[in-house]
Amino acid sequence: MAKLAPYRKKRDFSTTAEPRGTAKSTSGNSFVIQKHAARRLHYDLRLELDGVMRSWAVTRGPSLVTGEKRLAVRVEDHPLDYATFEGTIPKGQYGGGTVLVWDRGTWLPSADPRKGLAKGHLEFELHGEKLTGAWDLVRMHGKKDEKRENWLLIKREDSAARPANATDILEERPESVATDRTIEDIAAAPTAPKPASKACRAKAKPAASTLPAFIEPMLATLAAKPPAARGWIHEIKFDGYRLQARIAAGRVTLLTRSGLDWTRKFGTNVTDALKALAVDTAIIDGEIVVETRAGASDFSALQA
Ligand code: MN
Repeated sequence: MAKLAPYRKKRDFSTTAEPRGTAKSTSGNSFVIQKHAARRLHYDLRLELDGVMRSWAVTRGPSLVTGEKRLAVRVEDHPLDYATFEGTIPKGQYGGGTVLVWDRGTWLPSADPRKGLAKGHLEFELHGEKLTGAWDLVRMHGKKDEKRENWLLIKREDSAARPANATDILEERPESVATDRTIEDIAAAPTAPKPASKACRAKAKPAASTLPAFIEPMLATLAAKPPAARGWIHEIKFDGYRLQARIAAGRVTLLTRSGLDWTRKFGTNVTDALKALAVDTAIIDGEIVVETRAGASDFSALQA
């Protein structure tokens, strides 16, 4: 209860649609970032810890550029329910403006986050729909009597980081991960989310008969050193060819990563082996990964 006292004190729940909420005794590790068009646009980063959302107002929003420091002002703990809040806060109320659920997922601190909060350094991974990889939140040294704690949110170097000249994730993905709406959509119609969002339609599985002639493979990115974050495994890359096997109507086609048909360059032992598996689809990336008829989760592998 006491944890949320500052949160409640600031709000009039007879006026605002924000949840009153209760501090829970759960041990989840969700995170949310809410784009908040208040008097000044900012992004609220909330990390679940000990039954509440620990919160920071990131004035310019997160950046995927390694080392780019974004001011994150520590604000009052919010209830867990707040993580799904999207809508408008009436003018004149605390934080009056529009709120959009910009990203959500889980966060994984690399050490005890309670100690980290006290010490002023949290090192963690984000597993969100927009933000991933390793991040640091570092408290700046301030005067003792300062009311607010100023922290910095900084992206660590890893494969999720972007170069300084790359597209800004804030501009690339302005939409709500909950309803696909923009902040303008929400401001215009705060309580009427679109029933079938673009995101939902995009996630719909294509029919089995629409196997494309070629699927552009995900390519490796050249890096000077392997990523430092947890969750990575490394394998030796032997020199060779990366191929994609397309199996449709009993015919096996071996395609290069740019889509050239190299089936004839290989002995029939490769195509025969694939045919014998009686598979529906197969994608090769260093090794041959085959989806069998037994089900989507049943994968067989052959060394290429
Ligand atoms: Mn805010």
